[in-house]
Amino acid sequence: MPERIPGIELMEDYLKYANQEQKSVYLLGAKEHVVEKAATKIKNKYPNLVLAGYHHGYIDINDSKIINQIQEAKPDFVFVALGYPKQEEWIYTHKEKLDKGIVMGVGGSFDIWAGEAKRAPKVWLKLNLEWLYRLVTNPTRIKRMVQLPKFLIHVLRGK
Ligand code: UDP
Repeated sequence: MPERIPGIELMEDYLKYANQEQKSVYLLGAKEHVVEKAATKIKNKYPNLVLAGYHHGYIDINDSKIINQIQEAKPDFVFVALGYPKQEEWIYTHKEKLDKGIVMGVGGSFDIWAGEAKRAPKVWLKLNLEWLYRLVTNPTRIKRMVQLPKFLIHVLRGK
């Protein structure tokens, strides 16, 4: 892979596509007022996409209410912003119940959409140091960061 592809940018590309093709989108995650605001901002920027629904992320992973709602709405994209590792666990637990669509974990992206958090300044992005900026501004992320080399070793061993 020639370049780094941040989740929030890939999400934006999918939203653009959803807008062009009138596809539907479901947002799961973040605090109630955050996901609500993110949904409004997304809909304002991309008026042709269909907002299939949204729900805050302070849920039990095994709560069947949300997946039932999503199954009924049949969205083309489900963006899951529950943070690591909850979003991966949610996706792993429920993805087989959906018979169509792309399900993607997007971490803190709804906070950015809602204007509750900011991305790193451009110079940090250019230097590929967004991870460091996020760590400095939110030191509790260290728990998550130390998992990354372990993950890499698993992937390399898996090859
Ligand atoms: N969050 C959530 N449910 C939880 C814990 C966290 O919806 O039980 C949300 C939180 O409000 C925030 C996002 O998950 O919007 C976590 O963002 P973070 O930047 O920590 O995610 P990462 O990019 O590290 O996966």
